Amino acid sequence: MSFSNFDILIKGAEIVDGTGGPAYTGSVGVKGEKIAAVAAGNLEAKADKTINGSGLVVCPGFIDPHSHADLSILQYPLAENLIMQGITTFVGGNCGISLAPVKDIQYFQGIIDAWGLALKPDWKSFNDWLEKVETAGHTPNYVPLVGHNAVRGAVMGDDFKRKATREEINEMKSLLTEAMETGAFGLSAGFDAASAGHFADVGEVVELVRIAGDRGGMFAPHTRHHQSQWPADNPSEFGYGLFHAPKGEIITGRYHGLLEAVEISRKAGSVPLNIAHLTPAYSVPQPHPDFLDEALAKATLMDVVDSAIDEGLDLNYNVIAWSRSIGSQLPVIESFFSPLLVLPEWLRALEKEEFTEKLRDRGFRSRVKEVIYGGKFKFGMLHPVTDPYWMDCYRILTCKNSDYAGKTVGQIARKLKPHSIIEAVYDESVETVFNILIDDPGATWALIIDKREYGALPTFLKHPAGMPCTDVHALPAMSSSGQGVYGYGVSPTAFGLFPHYIRLYVKEKKVLTLEEAVMKATSVPARKVLGLSDRGVLKEGYFADVVVFSLDRLKEGEDFLEPSKPPEGVSCVIVNGKVVYEDMKHTGITPGKVLRKT
Ligand SMILES: [Zn+2]
Ligand SMILES: [Zn+2]
Repeated sequence: MSFSNFDILIKGAEIVDGTGGPAYTGSVGVKGEKIAAVAAGNLEAKADKTINGSGLVVCPGFIDPHSHADLSILQYPLAENLIMQGITTFVGGNCGISLAPVKDIQYFQGIIDAWGLALKPDWKSFNDWLEKVETAGHTPNYVPLVGHNAVRGAVMGDDFKRKATREEINEMKSLLTEAMETGAFGLSAGFDAASAGHFADVGEVVELVRIAGDRGGMFAPHTRHHQSQWPADNPSEFGYGLFHAPKGEIITGRYHGLLEAVEISRKAGSVPLNIAHLTPAYSVPQPHPDFLDEALAKATLMDVVDSAIDEGLDLNYNVIAWSRSIGSQLPVIESFFSPLLVLPEWLRALEKEEFTEKLRDRGFRSRVKEVIYGGKFKFGMLHPVTDPYWMDCYRILTCKNSDYAGKTVGQIARKLKPHSIIEAVYDESVETVFNILIDDPGATWALIIDKREYGALPTFLKHPAGMPCTDVHALPAMSSSGQGVYGYGVSPTAFGLFPHYIRLYVKEKKVLTLEEAVMKATSVPARKVLGLSDRGVLKEGYFADVVVFSLDRLKEGEDFLEPSKPPEGVSCVIVNGKVVYEDMKHTGITPGKVLRKT
């Protein structure tokens, strides 16, 4: 036993060190920024602060491999929502979206404003941006990716709905090279409809991914058709976010998107691939949404993940480990006015009051239904044709008609058409949305189940290439739905995903052991994905990013009307040797670092 002095000593806790090795009772000593000792039994030493770990688990801080916290980290540097759930490091810049590089600050300000971020950008290069964040200070560590949309947007501005020219691609390459040489861990991309990356030629992406790969970086794609699978009958419209998907057909858009990502990585020289928020590659319309999800998840692993790994590709993926996804309380009416959708002019031209008034007219309802079923329309994240059971995924949270509040759209619709499931799900559900808006134009709902992941999550989490992520922004402790980027994302997920992941998959479903679950949230992202050799494990000499929690008491908040409720059972969170969360409160300090790839 050593008798050295520690700044912090956690005694008599169950040590789960992040490697996957068996837990044991022991002590962890922290000195300065680092872990100074990890030992079985009770370490007898003096410490400025001693934490009695009896009955508690101590493990490395959670590493969130897919986050958008970088977008709001200057606004909310304490990132209280991440810290309260034990996240000590986040990988930002995902889905093709990063806040640098910037070429034209005025143009970029317009984008920032449209996203609803309260930011005044005064940086241009990726290095400028990272220095800005470093100077401002922040609580969690930030691992930066550079986004393809950002690189493409910097070069092409608003004129991005086309292939880039040779000169433009060369300019993108030089911006990306600067970002990689200044510390980015790789290139992220977003190929879904309406984003700049969506319009890129595969050749452009391959050239860029090669630059990231040559500098030891990864490729992190949000794959094509992940979210936006529009129905289309005209074959000339296939691709570009449109997918042939009439009612009843197996929908394979996501499968093609995944294959494309593997192909890009392969063509760029087998660049390590980290697939964003994996969902089953196939959607099969089914009246009980979770019947086939496990089978679809297994098929996805076999057809895409394992075959690429067998071929020798370094492929990992993350999953939003909460079937509620990132849904938050939103006005129902927003679906008809979202700036993210391609809606016909006659609908765009209406005021909200006019719209709800006209819904009383049957002819008008039919016209709107044509848009809903045949157009580039979505209820939030779900298209009513390519996600045919969307109505069971949306629950009405508030409505002046008390018959509706607390029920899913599908539950309300089925009550009205008890003898025909087909009529209920396809037609009556949309009629129900109209009726809700007539009763209360201010009614709100939330996406309560992202059923694409519901039954698939255990299968995806068990696979060695899979790890949990949040896909959320940095938020303050008391958040209202208005504080999310683009007005959404303030969901219980944003405040308690990691406690949920451990409680549900370790304690309740017993899908993973505690050691496996912690490993997938710590050393797997640190070592396998990021190549960090000094984080993600409780080991002498490693940075002291630590979480202390009670497995018995661990419980996430789950109320969409009170989304920012802190999870129970998280006793203490330490970042770089400093206590940042204790007694259910953030301590207000900002010891986080920008981790630059060296
Ligand atoms: Zn994404
Ligand atoms: Zn994302």
